[in-house]
Amino acid sequence: MALLSTTAIVLGGIRLGEADRLITFFTHHKGILKGVAKGARRMKSRFGASLEPFTHCTLIVFEKPGDKLARINQCDIIRPFQPLREDWNSIERASRMVDLVSQMAPEGEPNTDIFHLLLQGLEYLEEKKDPALSIMLFINRLIMYSGYQPHWESCQNCRQIFKSGNRQTLYFSASAGGALCAHCGSSAVTLIPMSHGTRAFLSASQKMDYAKAHRLRPSLDIQKQCEAIFKNTLAYITGKSEQRFTRKTVSAFQTPSG
Ligand SMILES: [Zn+2]
Repeated sequence: MALLSTTAIVLGGIRLGEADRLITFFTHHKGILKGVAKGARRMKSRFGASLEPFTHCTLIVFEKPGDKLARINQCDIIRPFQPLREDWNSIERASRMVDLVSQMAPEGEPNTDIFHLLLQGLEYLEEKKDPALSIMLFINRLIMYSGYQPHWESCQNCRQIFKSGNRQTLYFSASAGGALCAHCGSSAVTLIPMSHGTRAFLSASQKMDYAKAHRLRPSLDIQKQCEAIFKNTLAYITGKSEQRFTRKTVSAFQTPSG
């Protein structure tokens, strides 16, 4: 048996048998890791609140070669992110972040960029400055850190470079690799219309760090176009549409018996 000690973020969990829970973590050292917490559903569990979703913790697990599930030995809270579990809006937003990481990150492979992004994303949600913007910036970076880099500066078909003064509608296609000009986009189907403002916002926010990008102020139109572009890109990368959070899923975490 190998002992692994790592920092981690709790992505979620389900009941297992009478008294145990199966917890999914995003760990600093190994990416997604699933582990069994023995006795976690008992009232006086030694794990306390450390396995609640969104919790940033230090984790010690035993791993047996050949076993898919680790055994959770110890979990200590670094930051509980308790305010994110106190109202439905916060639960929904934070759940969207952890669900996307669950879908995008492969099991057992570390990705420290995604780990730090998720931590920072939850911190910004907890501060409640501009949650809608925090989520948009989070998804835009997550796409990049997952290894998919859309191209924003030129048409992915005819290669013309976009000029900032150009007011023509552009298009986006994840399968084409990014932006398309009005001419190339108009001849294809299932493309997403995109203004130059949206293109500039997505391009700039991927170049700035997460904190600095919070200074950007995208209009409502830009935000709507970004949502459509994200939906298209996430479906292209994962091969399925984004599975949106359901209240039932998270309510399962809210009770000691969950
Ligand atoms: Zn073109």
